[in-house]
Amino acid sequence: MRQILLNPGPVTLSPRVRSALLKPDLCHREAEFATLQRTIRERLLAIYGLDGHDWAAVVITGSGTAAVEAMISSLVPRTGALLVAENGVYGERMRSIAQRYAIDTISVVADWRSPIAVAAVDAALRAHSRVTHVAAVHHETTTGRLNELAPLAAVCRAHGVELLLDAVSSFGAERIDFEDWPIAACAATANKCLHGVPGASFVIARRRALAAAAAPKRTLYLDLDGYLTQQDSGGTPFTQAVQPFYALDEALAEFFEDGGWSARRTRYRERQAAVLETLLSLGVDPLLAAQESSCVLRAFRLPDGVDYATLHDGLKDRGFVIYAGQGALASEIFRISTMGEINADDLKRLREALVAELSSARRARSTDAL
Ligand SMILES: *Cc1c(COP(=O)(O)O)cnc(C)c1O
Repeated sequence: MRQILLNPGPVTLSPRVRSALLKPDLCHREAEFATLQRTIRERLLAIYGLDGHDWAAVVITGSGTAAVEAMISSLVPRTGALLVAENGVYGERMRSIAQRYAIDTISVVADWRSPIAVAAVDAALRAHSRVTHVAAVHHETTTGRLNELAPLAAVCRAHGVELLLDAVSSFGAERIDFEDWPIAACAATANKCLHGVPGASFVIARRRALAAAAAPKRTLYLDLDGYLTQQDSGGTPFTQAVQPFYALDEALAEFFEDGGWSARRTRYRERQAAVLETLLSLGVDPLLAAQESSCVLRAFRLPDGVDYATLHDGLKDRGFVIYAGQGALASEIFRISTMGEINADDLKRLREALVAELSSARRARSTDAL
């Protein structure tokens, strides 16, 4: 049976991306690898139409968190400070990364169900003039919230500070306004909206932000400036994940053939609407309203009497892997992401699987009530 991943990455691969993994063995010091890496870097910039004079894509080996860690550890200056605007697990993770590197960190926490506390960020920036960067998560995968960045960007601009963005689960499927938002860098990965495999991730940064990177450096392996120097001349400081790079290159070719990020957003929205309609008809409600949500993932309230493990296992037996809630939301929600290679037949089978699993749960509840 075809198994579909509805977790927020890794995703179900297309046949083309899967077969790219079988390309010839390749040494990362050969010309073919230099071409592969250069093509990937150019394609990553092309997704949002970025000019290579002002922006650079730095490709590293590691999961999305490696890219986020590279961004924070490399770009906050030794004399600077980072304000982290949190409203979920991934905002917390950015704070933890900064603290591990002993970066001067101020955190502005909002409830996981709420938007970023922009007024509190404004007040904190007023109180702490040493802050040079604000870190935020674009799509907070914890709840499926697409954080509204325009108001945060306006506050950053007013205080002359720049944004470090975790765009790991939005890059390639949501609007990222590289012109209007004061973005120094954003971190993302191959295996979410770009439909590659885990192992390759990247940071898109302003070249002048990389030139002003922290000195002395805090990290050897995740030093973005070091990667940039070598990658601009066709090299790499360390062995890269060659097969995931092959897969990312193929995934990017497919991405552009499919129409780019806005076409991907349209497709994800259509899939999400189909899932939502089914779940609403079964009496299952979304955690957040549509206008607060990303196109990538929705969180749904677990109905009374339905336990996550039972729902997960039942759906898995039918070929679909869903995702649990994290932290305090673990007992309250489940999550469904609609990235990856999902066709109309998969969606139809998903509908049948949800109806089968959740109407039996509903029946069990109504019997209990008798
Ligand atoms: C998936 C994800 C990450 C990175 O997770 P990894 O397991 O390291 O790939 C970071 N931030 C967000 C918002 C994510 O969704």
